[in-house]
Order: sequence, then C-alpha cells, then structure tokens
Amino acid sequence: MKPIRKEVTQIAENTWLISDYYLDNYYLLTGDKKGALIDTGCGIGNVTDEVKEITDLPVEVLLTHGHLDHCGGMFSLKSCHMHPGDEEIAREHYYKPNLIKWFIETRVPVRFPGEGHAEALKAMVSMKHHPFFSYKPIEDGDTWDLGGRILEAIHTPGHSAGSVCFLDRKNRILFSGNTVNKGIIIINKPEGTEKDLAVYRDSISKIWARRDEFDYLAIGHDGGLIDKGIVKDYLDLANGILEGSIVGQYEEAGIRKGVVARLGAAELWYRCDA
Ligand SMILES: [Zn+2]
Ligand SMILES: [Zn+2]
Repeated sequence: MKPIRKEVTQIAENTWLISDYYLDNYYLLTGDKKGALIDTGCGIGNVTDEVKEITDLPVEVLLTHGHLDHCGGMFSLKSCHMHPGDEEIAREHYYKPNLIKWFIETRVPVRFPGEGHAEALKAMVSMKHHPFFSYKPIEDGDTWDLGGRILEAIHTPGHSAGSVCFLDRKNRILFSGNTVNKGIIIINKPEGTEKDLAVYRDSISKIWARRDEFDYLAIGHDGGLIDKGIVKDYLDLANGILEGSIVGQYEEAGIRKGVVARLGAAELWYRCDA
C-alpha cells in the first residue's frame, strides 16, 4: 500500500514536484531572490507549510488555470496570479468542501488506488468556509524574475479560457498544467466543441512554435517531466480531428465519458461529458 503522504521529488535544479496524493501536481521553483509555486492542489493540507519546508524565500503563486484541483490550496496562501479568463470557473470551483470530497472520491480509484485512501483523504478536508482568493490578472507574455531565472506566461486557452503555461527558459522546462499532459479534456457544450478545439489547436501551435526554448514539459497530472515531442502529437491530433481525417470514438474510463482520439503520446477527450 502506498503511504498516505504528499510525495516531493526534485525534478531539476531548484525545482520540486509536489504530488497532491497523485491526484494532481504542483511545482515549487526557486531562483536567487524568490520562489514560484505553480498551482496549489485540490485543497488538502496547508500548502504554505509545505513550501516552507523547502524554501524560506518569498514565493509568487502562479495558477495554470482555475479548476478546483489546481486552485484549492489557495486558502493557505495570500494571493496569486491567474488569467482573468478563469475567474468565473474558479469562483464556481473554489473551496467547496463537498466538491473537494467528490473530487477525491471520484479520482482516487483511478489515480491513487488503495484500501481506505479516499476515506483518509476526505477526512483531511477542512469544512471551514474560505472566501474567494485575491489574484492579480496574468497577461500573455508577463514575466517573473526569480533571480537568475525568469518565468514567462504563455496564454493557452482550450482546456479552460484562462489556461496558461509557464516557460522556464533557463532550465528549458515548460510548465504546461492541463494544456499538455497525458490526457487532455475539452468539456462538451450543447453547441459542440468545434470552436474550443480550434482554440486549443491554436494554443498548441503557439507552444510548438517555441519548441527551441524548452526540452521538457512539467505536467499537471500523472508523472512529472515528459518529452516535448508530445506537443507535436497533440498538434497533429487536433488538426486531424478538425480536418476530419481523425475521428474519435465514445469511451468510458473511470469517471471519464466522452469522445476520445489518440495519436502517439497524445490523448484528447474532445467532447467530454464527465
Ligand atoms: Zn483543469
Ligand atoms: Zn486538473
């Protein structure tokens, strides 16, 4: 049985992956002057305390997007940077204890299977009310100088309107959240997802155009660093679906239901109902 703890792994120089009980990932980076925390988990445990175990530097908090499993830990942090395109969804998702418990209950069987794990994690969710967090709006191209290490925001809508990737040119890593990871979800809408898929494709194309500036992606779920080649797989896959040369099939996998297509390392749920 896997121990019930958050695993912390150093994945590059001054760069740590904090696994949120394998449900999602967040990352702590440090420079000479400052640190940056990319995402905050779903809201189990005190993230400020976790960060202090790794660094005493002041830390900027940057959100890849506003879904509950990335912003939930904000209750122990003062303020963050987020793209305003995700304010609405973040207000809907942010710190609702029952929503966090639902997230744990539905994801643990897939991502962190183990006898009693879901119950143990649910018992750790504080029932306290937390008002919506304060944030500074991110604009495409914004940079943060951590001291000898600069992070740049690249707005990449698709998975959500306010999704952002963060480029660390010094370490040649793109922190890609849920814009690129091992299984991407485009939520279904009554009018279909053609438009969102085109927006997503444009975002992937924007990242791929900058491929000379990074080698690896640090992703929002599953294992930490992966090869950048997956970005090209997503680009070809999204183009194939939009042009009609690739047609997905309806599938159900755990909690996930929808139309999915795969190419190389890419897996795109592009009409996803759950
Ligand atoms: Zn998400
Ligand atoms: Zn997520």
